[in-house]
Amino acid sequence: MQGLMMNTPLLITSLIQFAAQYHSDTPIVTRSTEGPVRRSSYGEIFARAQRLANALIDYGIKPGDRIATVAWNTDRHIELYYAISGIGAICHTVNLRLADEELIYILNHAEDRLVFFDTDMAEIVARVQPHTKSVERFIAMSDAAHQPEVAPADTVDYESFIAAASEHHDWAVFDENTAASMCYTSGTTGDPKGVLYSHRATVLHAMASCYASTLNLRTEDVVLPVVPMFHVNAWGIPYSAPIAGTPLVMPGPKLDGQSLFELMDAEGVTMALGVPTVWMNLLDHMDKLGRKPAALESVVIGGAAASEAIIDRFELDHGVTVNHAWGMTEMSPLGVVNTLKPKFHGLSRDQQMPIKLKQGRAIYGVDMCIVDDDGQELPRDGMTSGRLLVKGPWIVSEYFKAGESALTPDGWFDTGDIATLDADGYMLITDRAKDIIKSGGEWISSVGLENAAVGHPAIKQAAVIGVAHPKWLERPLLVCVPAGDERPDLDEIRSYLAEKVPKLWLPDALEWLDSLPLGATGKVLKADLRDRFAGYTVG
Ligand code: ADP
Repeated sequence: MQGLMMNTPLLITSLIQFAAQYHSDTPIVTRSTEGPVRRSSYGEIFARAQRLANALIDYGIKPGDRIATVAWNTDRHIELYYAISGIGAICHTVNLRLADEELIYILNHAEDRLVFFDTDMAEIVARVQPHTKSVERFIAMSDAAHQPEVAPADTVDYESFIAAASEHHDWAVFDENTAASMCYTSGTTGDPKGVLYSHRATVLHAMASCYASTLNLRTEDVVLPVVPMFHVNAWGIPYSAPIAGTPLVMPGPKLDGQSLFELMDAEGVTMALGVPTVWMNLLDHMDKLGRKPAALESVVIGGAAASEAIIDRFELDHGVTVNHAWGMTEMSPLGVVNTLKPKFHGLSRDQQMPIKLKQGRAIYGVDMCIVDDDGQELPRDGMTSGRLLVKGPWIVSEYFKAGESALTPDGWFDTGDIATLDADGYMLITDRAKDIIKSGGEWISSVGLENAAVGHPAIKQAAVIGVAHPKWLERPLLVCVPAGDERPDLDEIRSYLAEKVPKLWLPDALEWLDSLPLGATGKVLKADLRDRFAGYTVG
């Protein structure tokens, strides 16, 4: 027997419609690419998204067409999210830090018809334009007075593009499984792959993001997503904040510690989200001033592991709560978020720390299990580690144009992460499957060793890779960026680490670099380090 309830499709438009209706005057503040801070609101964003939707249809955009954005976190970018998906087209957010060849590959693979770009991206866009096969028109996300000097021919400015269009739009109602947006994976292994999000997945993910035990978005918060809108939809914040009527502060192109601090301080930001490298820079600035941005209460750290050092600096030095989170482009991205269950509240800080360092706790909507190399499920005992598999309504099933399932025969997605799970649902990533160091018969967690190493006062950043060893096949090489002038030797670092990690993990070699190679999403490029230290042997 079927239930007798309404079958209202879960469409992205409903999110902004809700916010425009009930949180119309709630501010959306943007540090614009042009420079000054610009003030908009949910009401205004919705009105302008209606205008933009009409302009796109007037131009000839049809359902299913792909439209690229090469843009920072701004109010106009939010308008694009809603207008493009709302007419049944696909908002393809392109990572603007990619190399030209990767940009060209992605634009051609997606067959984008239009490209909306921020004006500081004009030179890059002009360089790649001759190599694009499907792009008909480039739109500079500014007004007529702020046009870039170099830009592809026929570039029109955003404000002129929408100026003549009507401010009223009858939003279409269609199947909730329709594609809404697309983001390519970083492509650290092989060509980048397109993840095509549906309306249904995006709305469910947005609702789940608001749970108190996930991001706990509240009407009384002021949220700043440092994580870019071109990187898994800024972890879904432009979709989840409208549900909670949460004010947003969009940082535009200035993501250095001082600029973020000043914006957060001035706009009363209570919560911010980003990757560890961003927070290191903010923390350095906070230390310099001896205070936190006035209203900042919490930060969410994801995309790479949060170390004990970074958690302590936020929590102990500045009274800012840290919530660790984990996800992937293929997961929209939220997988787990770390909040402490009440039974852990009474523990000492030292006892809580191993739990806080875990990537997070299971959230309703993401099924997880760990398996061995033969696919046999492993115990959820917090000790045994295995390949982490996930399943759920906001997880990829197939990559764009791949023509084949991305799943295991029983319908799981293999994350490529090695993790432990415990009975409470806490998940700890011990490594990427491709980064783990196989020493003799034992596995050494590069992430675990890196996290321990950055606790040393002389080490600012650390990366661990496996290098060849005649007896053990592979042993860890620790590559560090110094925090100051001091560069302790291997023996000193080994004795520091000896209290923190198993003896077997202690690095066999140490190298100092001025900086680590970072990829387009701010993560350390281990592949570059492996190339750099190719042929390195120890033992
Ligand atoms: P994102 O960087 O948004 O998480 P990607 O798809 O680029 O998305 O990368 C996903 C991978 O990043 C994960 O599979 C995992 O290896 C790593 N990752 C994400 N969050 C964390 C975290 N909190 N700790 C450790 N690794 C993480």
